[in-house]
Order: sequence, then structure tokens, then C-alpha cells
Amino acid sequence: MSPSVSRRTFVTASLATGAAVAVGSEASPALAAPPAEVRSGPRIAVIGSGYGGAVAARSLAEAGRRVDLIEMGADWEAMSSSSGPVFPGMRSPNERSMWFKNRTDMPFSYLGGLDIINRPIRRAAGVLDIETFAGIKVYLGRGVGGGSLVNGGMAVTPSRSFFEKVLPSVDAAEMYDTYFPRARQQLLVTEPPLDIVMNSPWYQFARVSALQAKKVGYRHQLVPNVYDFDYLRKETFKQVPRSALVGEVMFGNNYGKRSLPKSILRTALATNRVNLIPMTEVTQLSQRPDGTFELSLRTIDFWGKETERRTAVYDRVVLAAGSEGTSRLLLKAKRYGTVKGLPDAIGQYWGPNGNVMLARRMWGYPTGMHQSTIPVLGVSNWDDSERSVFAEIAPFPTGIELHTGVYLAITNNPNTGKFTWDDQRRNVHLDWGPSHAKPGVDAVRAFFDPINRAHSGTAYRADVFERRQQFADYFTYHPLGGAVLGEATDLSGEVKGVPGLFVMDGSLIPAKIGVNPFVTITALAERNMDRLIAGHRF
Ligand SMILES: Cc1cc2nc3c(=O)[nH]c(=O)nc-3n(C[C@H](O)[C@H](O)[C@H](O)COP(=O)(O)OP(=O)(O)OC[C@H]3O[C@@H](n4cnc5c(N)ncnc54)[C@H](O)[C@@H]3O)c2cc1C
Repeated sequence: MSPSVSRRTFVTASLATGAAVAVGSEASPALAAPPAEVRSGPRIAVIGSGYGGAVAARSLAEAGRRVDLIEMGADWEAMSSSSGPVFPGMRSPNERSMWFKNRTDMPFSYLGGLDIINRPIRRAAGVLDIETFAGIKVYLGRGVGGGSLVNGGMAVTPSRSFFEKVLPSVDAAEMYDTYFPRARQQLLVTEPPLDIVMNSPWYQFARVSALQAKKVGYRHQLVPNVYDFDYLRKETFKQVPRSALVGEVMFGNNYGKRSLPKSILRTALATNRVNLIPMTEVTQLSQRPDGTFELSLRTIDFWGKETERRTAVYDRVVLAAGSEGTSRLLLKAKRYGTVKGLPDAIGQYWGPNGNVMLARRMWGYPTGMHQSTIPVLGVSNWDDSERSVFAEIAPFPTGIELHTGVYLAITNNPNTGKFTWDDQRRNVHLDWGPSHAKPGVDAVRAFFDPINRAHSGTAYRADVFERRQQFADYFTYHPLGGAVLGEATDLSGEVKGVPGLFVMDGSLIPAKIGVNPFVTITALAERNMDRLIAGHRF
């Protein structure tokens, strides 16, 4: 049996034990010792198993390297074999829903200004996390697959002109000829079929909003997705268990969605060269005098009880812990001097991809009692100017007719934020707040005001967000930046001044990319890994 298979089997058993602990004792098994293996090639760690980490692990394994893939969250895929669906769905949350929270915290969870959608839950290593900074909340996926476990699966390629503005040092022709197509193919992206978009009652909400935007001259566009639309068609006719059609998304999808464990990570693990180490957080990164890296590792069980602390030494380390996870490890190492020579650009050029969320009351325009959680349409006036908006038409699947349109708008906000190290809290501080977000909010208001004016009975709804905000700029799904390509790293993702240390996730993209980001994160990782492997950096 290969090391990766035995490791995965162990973790399944461990998580199953965790479930038993819920009704029994608090005991949990100690972590098994890693299997002995003959070393060949450099010892490589990839930290984080989202888009960047998945591509890094697969590329290295396909190039014949052995990789430890270290992930602080659970290996949900390994739980699939146990009886029943793994994920609880949005209307019946439980301890698998959120990462160590006493209560769910959904992004738009208010009705009539009252918090009636959130529910108390048991604290455990659930799949959706929120990192709360002084001026913004960042939603994240936790577990093997990172953000792919909780996101809407919208797989959008940015316009080439905007990509060239954001990352001018990257060869756009190569990206658009080779790496974006490869990313879409690896991620199993397809276009939503027109019969579903045009006729399904579950997409009434999307059609209504698209038509209203069209009336004032905005473009509307089909949005590709990793969801299996053949599965969705079968869900409609109840031929298979329902997933997108019964509110599954932010607390995980049980069926239909081809998240990373069903695409790139599956390929990576099939090589038997990737040793998956879930439930294990890298708490510190240090460089030793001989140039190797020492990682401090902390393993917990599903209920948060520490089961092991240890250190491990690697010749190469790939940071793929997401924008805030990677920035945290790098800034901590810089502040405490555990890695010398880290560049000053670490922590800079952060942004929420210009995210602003809003809801519109649309009396007289039914949006449907039943709404699919997988978005298929967007509306846009994008021309690369600061008034540009690309708005995904998002569902609000409450099971009742709310006459409400919900949108996640992506803007070309020129502001950037910055992570710094906070000595008192021994954690990162993020300098971002309402004043940073204002240009994005202004663009969104200018975009939606004409739609409201052209449709009587429509107006912004403030009662679905915290503090009755009309334009929710206090949270983001799309954190980007903090270790930007060409600034904190060289043009392939190797950290400047620290050979052998690499960044491979959303941290590389400065602040925004004009569309939902995971296709770009994946394509950039594909490009960087090709360059690094060809350049014998591993
Ligand atoms: C609710 C929601 C909806 C979204 N919808 C979309 C969408 O439709 N389309 C789109 O393009 N994007 C969407 N996104 C954003 C997208 O998921 C992220 O941009 C993407 O996941 C970022 O990829 P990444 O590789 O940078 O990091 P991540 O996917 O965040 O992966 C980082 C991984 O590293 C792990 N980690 C962090 N720190 C450590 C540590 N110290 N030790 C070990 N492991 C660690 C984390 O647990 C995580 O699994 C959405 C996000 C959310 C939260």
C-alpha cells in the first residue's frame, strides 16, 4: 500500500472516531508515525491544498517528485465512504458547517433586519471559515480542496486586456493560448446549457435580473462552472440525490460539483507520490543555516483537540495557504527573523477583488421560491475603467418567494490594502476598511441605480446584511495579494532572496482580477510550475 493511501485511510478512521466522540468520551487516537520511505530527490512540502497547492502537488508528482501536501482542514473526500451525505446543506447546518464557530455566520443572513437564518452549531473543524479582520471579514474554505469545497464553482477567465493591466510582466499570449485553456480543462469547466438557463424554474432569479440589466443596456453573459450540468438536469427530474437544487454550496456540495478533490487533487493523489497530511497546520516557517526549511506542525482531531506537535525538514517549500494564510506565515517568519532576507513587499497589494454584495427588492418580479445555488449568469459594463462592474447574479435560496435579486459585484477598485504583523495579537493585521472599499461601492451604485430607475417597484434592500448596509463591503469571498508575483517573488513565484521557497496561490495576484479568481489562480500556478520544473528549481 502506498504511503498516501495508508495516510488517507488512517485519517478516515480518525475522523470517524471524531464522530463517535460526539456521543461518547473525549478520547482521540494519537497520530500514527509516518511510514518509512526511501528518499529520492528533494524533500518538498506544499502548504495548503486549494487551487495553487493542488496544481503544485500534481505538477511535482507528475515530474516524478515526492510531495508532502499539508492541509490544516479535514479530508472530506475520505469521509465519503461512510454512510450518508458528508455535508449538511445550508438549511440544516451542523458541526461540519463552520471552522470552530458556535454559530453559523452566513454572508446574507438577515431578513427584515433580523438574524433569523444563522443557527447555533457545535465547534469543530467544519468546512467554511471566516477570518475577521478590523475592517473586513474574509470567507474561506477549510479542508482538502481549500476554497473549492465551499465556492460557487464560477469558472471565469478574465478579459485579456485587464489581465495585461494587472500582471503586465506575464506573457499574456502564453497564458491565453496555453495556461487558461489548460486550467479550464484540468478544473472540468463547462458552460451552462441554454435549456437549463432559459427554462429551469430554479434559474428564474437569474433570468429576471439579466433581463432588467439588459433593458438599461448592460451585457449579460453565461458563466462557466465546474458543476456537472448533466447531474443538475437529473436533479431536476429527481433521478439522483439533489445538491445544487436543495441549497448545498457554502457548507459543501455532496454531489454534482467537481471541486478539487474530484479534479486536480484526484490526479495528484493517483500518482501515489503525494502524501496527504490533513488536519495539520503549519504554525511556523524557519530556515536553517544549511538552507533547508523547518516547518512547525500542529495536528488536531475533528473537535480541535491537539493530537501532535512536531517539526519536519524540507529542501523546498511551496506556500499555497491562500492570500491570508501565506501572508501570515511569511510575515511571522520576517518579524521573528526565522527566515532571513524576506522582501519588504510581503503583505502588500492586498485586495478583496473589488467585492461588493447587494440585494434588490423587486416587487412584481417573482424571483422563484426554488433557486439553484450554482450561478449561471452575470451582468456587466466592464471596460477596464474604474466604473467597471461584473456582477454575478447570486441565488438567495430560502425556499420562499422573496422578490429579491442578489448580486456579488466585482469592481475595479484602485485601492489596495496591506497585511502587517501585529506584535500584541501575534497575528496579521489587515489594513482595509470602508474608505478603501468606497470606489467599489460608488461603481456598484452607479451601475445598479439605472436598473432600479427603469423598473418601478425595485429598490436596494438593506435588511439582508449586517448593520442594515445597502452595499455590503464588509466581507469578501475573493482575497488576493500579499506576496505578489514580480514584487515579493520573482516572475515564477520563487520568493526573492530566499531560494527554495515558493508562493503558488492567490497571494500572487495584486488585489483584483476583474472576475471570480480561481481560474486565474490555477492558470498562473500551471505556468509557474512549468517554468520552475523546467528550470530545475525542484
Ligand atoms: C463562499 C465562497 C464562494 C466563492 N465562489 C467563487 C467562485 O464561484 N468562483 C471563483 O473563482 N472563486 C470563488 N471563491 C474564491 C475562491 O474559492 C478562492 O479564490 C480560491 O479558493 C483561492 O485559492 P488559493 O489556492 O489561493 O487558496 P485556498 O483555496 O484558500 O486554499 C488554501 C488552503 O490552505 C489551507 N491552509 C491555510 N493556512 C494553512 C496552514 N498554515 N497550514 C496548513 N494549511 C493551511 C487552507 O485550509 C486551505 O485549504 C469563493 C470563495 C468563497 C469563500
